[in-house]
Formats: sequence, structure tokens, C-alpha cells
Amino acid sequence: MTILGTYKCTARCENCCFDSNPFLTERLSLPEILQFIQEAAELPTCKMVVFSGGECFLLGDDLVTAVAYATSLGMITRCVTNGFWAKHPEHGRTRLEPLVRAGLKELNLSTGDYHQRWVSQDTVVNAACLATDFGLPTVIMVELQRERRVTAADIAGDPRMAGRLKRDNPSLRILESPWMPMDHNDIIEQSENRMLSQRTLHMRGGCTSVLNTVVITPHRRFGFCCGLSREKIPELNADWAPGTFNDLVEAGNADFMKIWLWVDGPDRILAWAATKDSRIEWENRYSHHCQTCLALFSDQYIRDVIREHYRERVQDVLFRYTMRLREQQGFDTHLAP
Ligand code: SF4
Ligand code: SF4
Repeated sequence: MTILGTYKCTARCENCCFDSNPFLTERLSLPEILQFIQEAAELPTCKMVVFSGGECFLLGDDLVTAVAYATSLGMITRCVTNGFWAKHPEHGRTRLEPLVRAGLKELNLSTGDYHQRWVSQDTVVNAACLATDFGLPTVIMVELQRERRVTAADIAGDPRMAGRLKRDNPSLRILESPWMPMDHNDIIEQSENRMLSQRTLHMRGGCTSVLNTVVITPHRRFGFCCGLSREKIPELNADWAPGTFNDLVEAGNADFMKIWLWVDGPDRILAWAATKDSRIEWENRYSHHCQTCLALFSDQYIRDVIREHYRERVQDVLFRYTMRLREQQGFDTHLAP
């Protein structure tokens, strides 16, 4: 589960999925955060709490309390942050240390061309160094687009990072992920291999987030995935009130569209829809699967095809869903009657 305690952020990156900025004020209260964690912990499959945002470090001491509470319930915790708090390493240490003592298990840092207009690379490297020195598994996630200045290789080349990476440290990783626009009609250029097309379709699979992760937002909305475009897709959100967690999870698990997204993923659903209506343009428009997903739910031609033809797919999708669930649950399908 992911807790988006606030959408307030110290940065204001272009194409931020929540339009985060320093001027937003709404946030979850500490009792609401603890209540959500407690309800999630009653589900035996809920194993990890991710604190993201906005900028989760702006929750201050409440973040420390929430990490400690989730830890006390046996859950792993991760913070996703832009690293602003590590501009001065000594100050960064005083922000990170209480979280480590509270049981924080992972730190994810976001950076790239858009982020670095607000938080410098030096600050992000400071944060990564502090985290690894505390023994925290750390990931630096770098925005990916065809034309860019900031790359994973560039960050790895910082002497402080190079030293830590050279120690063959498996708990420090630098990854790249496509940066996506928040309008399904906009295109952020990526290399050809990253764009969805007939040629790359075989590399696209089911969504690993829907049915696996849930989200609570600062507006007390319950999200059925932690995708970048979830906020803009009404069908992936519901109202949360204390005591409703379990019912919402069950409602999500009973929705065919979410099951289909989990089994085939939005890219394959879109390619299928395009075979039904030649007006649907899909090749070389989308790179990130969440942008494809935004198109599925926003484009009227695609919505019409799904509404009119989804029944043709129900049997096949539900069969594969059941098979995959059985595999996950460790059933020996060869011995099944
Ligand atoms: S740092 Fe993250 S949350 Fe903050 S504005 Fe940038 S993309 Fe949005
Ligand atoms: S692909 Fe869709 S369902 Fe999956 S994470 Fe992205 S927005 Fe959510």
C-alpha cells in the first residue's frame, strides 16, 4: 500500500502526476494515516507500506510515527522522496536518522532533468550516500526521455557514488524510467524501442500494480493502483472512510476491467481495441504503460470498443487470471482435477 499523505512538494516538476507544488495545504492527519495502516495490516497479504507524495518528508515527525507504527505491525516501509532534505549532509543525517531508528527499510530518490530544476544532483547524491551509510537499500530513479541531460551513468560517475557502487553494493541501484505526460494526447519522445508499437508489443505484459497495490490520497480517496495516471482515471479511485478498506479491496478484485489490466496490461488491451476500430491510433504514441492506461479510460473510441466488445474477452481473461492466481498460490495445476 502507498500512503500519499500530502501532494505538497518542495518542487514543482513539469508533468508531475499530482501537479504537486509548495502551495498545497491539504494532507491526511496522523490518526487517518495510522487508521489506514491498521486496516491494511489486517489483510495478511499486505506486506509493505510506501510513503510517497508529493514530498513525504514534509509530513515531518508524523512520518517517523507512521513508519514506527507500520514496523510494529510487521510491515516493511519505504520512503519515496526528491531528497531536498539532504542539501546539507549534516541536516540530511538529522532527518534520516529518526526514520532509520523507526524501522525504515528502503529509500527511493527521484531525479532527472525536470526534478533538477528544483533539487540539485548534488543534493540527491548526498541523500543516497547518507542512506547507504545507514545501510538502507537505496534506489535512485532517473527520468528517461530521448533528449536529456541527466542520465544514470552521469550520476554513477559522481566520485562519491562511484566509490559506493564499486564496492559492488547490491543495495544501491540507479534505474531509469520513462517520464510521461499527463495528457494522453501529448508525447514525450523516447527511443524507438521504448515506444509502444506492433514491433515492441511482445515485450508488454500485465500491470503489476493494479490488484497488488492500493493507495490513500490526501483527499481521502482510495486508489486501486499506484500508477502515475491513476489520479486522472475515475474508475481507479473510490472514496475511503475509516472501516471501508476491506470492502474496497474486495470491490476492486471483483471488477473485470481491473482483472483484465492485471492479466494483459493496458498496451495489449489498446492494441486489441485498435483491431476493432481503425480510428484508434496507438503505435509510437505511448511509452509508459500508465499513459496507455490513461488513453484507454479517456479516449472515446477506445471506451466504446471496450464497452461493446469486452464480453468476447471475458472467458479467456478469467481463465488466465485463475491460472495465474493458482500459480501464485503454489497450486500444482497439473494435479488439479
Ligand atoms: S518531486 Fe515528485 S512529487 Fe514533487 S513535483 Fe516533482 S514529480 Fe511531483
Ligand atoms: S497501468 Fe493503469 S492500472 Fe496499472 S498502474 Fe498504471 S494507471 Fe494503474
